[in-house]
Amino acid sequence: MNRIILHIDFNSYFASVEQQANPFLRGKPIGITGKQVERSVITTASIEAKALGVKTAMSTWEAKKICPSLMLWPGDPKKYAAITERFNCILKEFSPNVSQFSVDESFLDITNEAEDYFGATCLAQALRKRLQEECGEHITASIGIAPNKLMAKLACESVKPNGLTVVRSEDLISFIDTRPLPALCGIGRRIEARLNALGIETFKQLREFPLEDLQTEFNSYGTWLHEAAHGRDSSAVVSSTQKGIRNMHSEDVKSYGHSYTLPQDTYDPLVLKRYLLGLADKVAWRMRRDGIVSRRVSAFVRFGDFSSHGEQRTFHAPTANGLKLFQIAWNIIQPHLGYTPVRLVGLSASQLTQGPEQPPLFKKDRKILSVFSSLDTLQHRYGSGVWQRASTLSAKFKTRSSGFHYDHEV
Ligand SMILES: [Mg+2]
Repeated sequence: MNRIILHIDFNSYFASVEQQANPFLRGKPIGITGKQVERSVITTASIEAKALGVKTAMSTWEAKKICPSLMLWPGDPKKYAAITERFNCILKEFSPNVSQFSVDESFLDITNEAEDYFGATCLAQALRKRLQEECGEHITASIGIAPNKLMAKLACESVKPNGLTVVRSEDLISFIDTRPLPALCGIGRRIEARLNALGIETFKQLREFPLEDLQTEFNSYGTWLHEAAHGRDSSAVVSSTQKGIRNMHSEDVKSYGHSYTLPQDTYDPLVLKRYLLGLADKVAWRMRRDGIVSRRVSAFVRFGDFSSHGEQRTFHAPTANGLKLFQIAWNIIQPHLGYTPVRLVGLSASQLTQGPEQPPLFKKDRKILSVFSSLDTLQHRYGSGVWQRASTLSAKFKTRSSGFHYDHEV
């Protein structure tokens, strides 16, 4: 079947997020760096800085030498992760098959949504408009549309910034031949050098090179190169939700969980309750997002002296309700509190099944459920963390710069 794949790649991502956030930086050559600006390298150069010759991975002094007007700006991973989550939510409005490729790149299978390449172009324009409305006009993206992922990415790379490149099946070969070998994702400098050594400098030469000889040189990678030079790639866009469902059918135990090391060890049950409820809401949201309910809660605490206690409880009615998960978890840990201060709390939900929660019996509970479904719509749109229970407000989860949000998986 003919597929239509869209690849989206944000331009000078970290730099344009900063320019969006700070009008003072707009239109100026800026270089995003690590924490220690002077001793760091450029992680992203703004579009203006690139035009003046600044490149990613240059040391800051080298970049300054090339472009004296360059403004160095320490990066803020937390901010970028928040924007990434926001745009990934928007992408899901356009197709259920979204697969994130990197912090600023994703693939969408839009075969069913677009129907043909004209529809795909309209969809891409609508997507771009939506992103600008939600994330700001200074955060721009290039889009490539083609019959497969490899070619969509190649199309996307070909026009930057803010490009929209459509390559239909019948134009694939002529399009590939306009591109240099290293433009293809999968041909790095070393592979390029080895190809050059074989006398291959263009995609046309690569296509015409005997497959057996490529296989002798590169083993199975030779087959991949041969296919790529013909514009062929059969890999599917696998969304994270589909991955979740696939895992559900496999043998490995699947659970949703978070734990958190408190800013200070504490005896205070109120403080512990707040953090535990925050974690429970987070776990519950991820389950609702994936259409999963759970019949077992595990809760654990680690004390200041590094001793710990953990237990699990199974119950009848499967749920994805954060408050219920919290209540069970609290019943597990509460009897063990009071002797030693607590260092870490954690909670996870297992015995998972697919499907929505049974509708509650009482009107009051049904009302709460409908409130949650509205909050979930917001989270789908803007990412998790968009709301928080008032009772957990004073629980300040510190962000870890290495990941999204404050949490980590158990
Ligand atoms: Mg990019």
